[in-house]
Amino acid sequence: MVSRDSSKTQHISRRNFVERTSQWGALFAAYQFLPLPALAESLAKDLRISQTPIVDKGFASVRKVGDGLYATISDTSKGLQTMCNGGFLVGKDAALLIEGFASPAGAAFQHETLRTVSQGPIMGALDTHYHFDHAMGNAFYGANGIALWAHAAVPKRILENYVAMQGVDRAAFLAPLEARTRNAKTELARKHAAEYAATLGNIFAVVNSTVIAMPSRPLDPGKLPLKLELGGLTAVVESHPGHSGTDLIVRVPEQNVVYTGDLLFNHMYPVTFDEQATVSGWRSTLKTFLSWSKDTIFVPGHGQICGAEGVQLSLDLFEDIAGQAEKMHKSGVPADDAADQYLVPDKFKDVAIFAWNLSIGPTISKLYKEWDSR
Ligand SMILES: [Zn+2]
Repeated sequence: MVSRDSSKTQHISRRNFVERTSQWGALFAAYQFLPLPALAESLAKDLRISQTPIVDKGFASVRKVGDGLYATISDTSKGLQTMCNGGFLVGKDAALLIEGFASPAGAAFQHETLRTVSQGPIMGALDTHYHFDHAMGNAFYGANGIALWAHAAVPKRILENYVAMQGVDRAAFLAPLEARTRNAKTELARKHAAEYAATLGNIFAVVNSTVIAMPSRPLDPGKLPLKLELGGLTAVVESHPGHSGTDLIVRVPEQNVVYTGDLLFNHMYPVTFDEQATVSGWRSTLKTFLSWSKDTIFVPGHGQICGAEGVQLSLDLFEDIAGQAEKMHKSGVPADDAADQYLVPDKFKDVAIFAWNLSIGPTISKLYKEWDSR
């Protein structure tokens, strides 16, 4: 009896595992995950950055980027445990972890790596914003008694966007997205809508296989910047507009190193779908990043570690989309049509695009709204 039950249990969990793995596989296809590029030559010579990672797990590797500063860089072509980038800061008195990643396994990997360089106390872990790929691993921190810090609006946004998905009928959730695909007016619009539906279907699957955990240390943006003294290492938590309405960055001014969260996508079209994303706000944040010391090292939310050239590329991408969108706006192309009609110029052909309707499409829609409300 007992053995029959346990074999049945094993069978079910194995099947669930296989289902989940194939869903992750579909997510792969929808997102056009490219292998992580090598470090830019200018950074490969930077003495602050270790030439080889201190650990490489495939799905993510960890590199030293300063004195007591480490960057966790995901390679989504090799696995999706982390999905986004993060890192950790190790001072003489305490350490700070950055990001909850896409799964507890991702957060566990980073914590394990921290423990290979320090056994000291951990002040906390910080989610740079509420998006699933930065927060679905939060439960790891809860289970290990590590305080979880985030923008004060993060619990509410997680509740509204992800807890609201849990236990909901998958077909009902996908129905409006599939209808939008069927009703698309052009082939291009159909392709973008289908890709969007597939992507949200995968996010739905990830969220429904996650025990969601909320931050325990809300940070009121009105009270930022916040200085953290880790012992011979001072980090500053700041809030900037742009990507999600909950974006925080961690800066180490003495070493010119910045962990940007998704306020910077390196070599990718910025992801602007969030209802609180603001294109004008984001562009001014990128200009702020460029106003800092020319030798600043940026650990972006996605993509390889970069310098100011990565920030400039993001601005150039916004500029190019805005230029094309403005022409369509002036010649009377409706917002819904314009969102599908941007042409990727040759010079940006190798720039990655997460789903079109999470990045380029909403950038155009939001620009139209900004122009129409003037
Ligand atoms: Zn994000």
